[in-house]
Amino acid sequence: MIRIEQPYDEATGRPIPRRTPTSAPYFEAAREGRLSLQKCPRDGFFFYPRAACPECLGDDWSWADVSGHGTVYSYTVERMGLDPAQRSQLPLVVAIVELDEGPRMTSNIVGCPPEEVSVGQAVQVAFEDLGGETLIHFEPADSEPT
Ligand SMILES: [Zn+2]
Repeated sequence: MIRIEQPYDEATGRPIPRRTPTSAPYFEAAREGRLSLQKCPRDGFFFYPRAACPECLGDDWSWADVSGHGTVYSYTVERMGLDPAQRSQLPLVVAIVELDEGPRMTSNIVGCPPEEVSVGQAVQVAFEDLGGETLIHFEPADSEPT
């Protein structure tokens, strides 16, 4: 069995994402306030970061910024906090956001009460610094950029 050490933010106890060589450019862009995804010259953007395009298996993709705008495709509200590290964030909206460029991202909706989240809602990217990394969330599209 392979055991992978999970880093946690000391102040909040929340887990910090672990970079891989493939995902490092995604996190570097986030740190600079950009949402950057891999783009295949034939099939367009895809997410999550991986070695090959999920459509054609090509490895001639490159990184490119997207608008950071999209819509809520689906969501749920986490209220129980089965992971103790999440409890400080409850209630937590976990959503699938469909970007204007096409890819869907699992993320959190922040900046509004869960009752104000709806399928089809326009959202925009929001950034949160945590433990030396920058997390990608989404917030209502009419929010002041964060
Ligand atoms: Zn492709």
